[in-house]
Amino acid sequence: MRILLLIITGLALIAPATALAQTPPFTLFPVIGGAHYTDDFGDGRAGGSHEGNDLLAPCGTPTVAVVPGTVTLDWGDRSGWMVTLKGKSSWYRYIHMDGRDGPRSALAKGLKDGSRVKAGQIISYVGDTGDASGGPCHLHFELHRGANVSSPYAYLQTATIMQLDPADPVSANAVTPQVSLTITGVVAWTATVAGEGRLIIRPTGVSSSDGTKLSHAGTIALRASPSLFPAASVGRSVTVTTTAVGLTTALQDIVPLSWTAATVT
Ligand SMILES: [Zn+2]
Repeated sequence: MRILLLIITGLALIAPATALAQTPPFTLFPVIGGAHYTDDFGDGRAGGSHEGNDLLAPCGTPTVAVVPGTVTLDWGDRSGWMVTLKGKSSWYRYIHMDGRDGPRSALAKGLKDGSRVKAGQIISYVGDTGDASGGPCHLHFELHRGANVSSPYAYLQTATIMQLDPADPVSANAVTPQVSLTITGVVAWTATVAGEGRLIIRPTGVSSSDGTKLSHAGTIALRASPSLFPAASVGRSVTVTTTAVGLTTALQDIVPLSWTAATVT
C-alpha cells in the first residue's frame, strides 16, 4: 500500500510537467471564420489513408499561416495547388487551394516561394483543385513533425478561429455567400464506405437557404457522419439539413455526395 501511494504521488508530480512540455504544434485555425470538419484523419481513401483533416469552407475563403514560417507553392495532379508552410518544429500542407486564377489565386498577393510569413497572415484561399474537383470546396490540412504525419484534429478543436476583417479588401473580396439545403423525404439507405458515412434520401422536397434553384432527379446521396445514422433508420421520414458552403455548379446540380448532412431530425 505504501509503495502504491508513493507511485501515485510520483505520477501527480510528473503530470503537470509533461503537460507543460507538450506545446501544441499550432494554436490558430487555418481557415478564417472556421470550417465544417470531422475526425477523418486515417480514413481509407483512394490511394491510401487520409493524411489530414478536410476543412469545408466556401471556395475563396482565406487561409492563414498557423505558425510563423516560410511558404512554398507546388502543383500535383492529386493535391492540385499545394502550399507548404515550414515552421520551426513542424510543417504543414495546405492542399486543393483556389486555382480560379492559377498560381495567383493559390498563393496570397505579395507572396512568392520562400517568403517569410507571420502567424495569422493570409497565405492562400480554399479551393477545389486536384482530386477535390467536382466535390465541395475544402482545405485538406496536414500536420507533419519531421518525417511523421500526425492528426491535426485535436489541435483544430482548440485553435483560435480568426474572423474576416471587412476593412481588408484582400479578405473581404473572398467572402462568398454560404448556402445550405433542407431536404425532406424518406431514408432509402445508409452505409459506411471506407470509413465515410453515406445517407441516401428519397426526397419529397428540397429547398436552399438563399432560394437558389436546384436540379436533381431521383434519390439524393449525401455525405454524413455515421453519428447521424441512429436518427436515419431506413424507411423513416426525415428532415435533413446540410452544412453551409459556397455554391458551385456541382452543388447546384446536387451531384451525388457533393453535399454533407449536418442534422437529421
Ligand atoms: Zn483530404
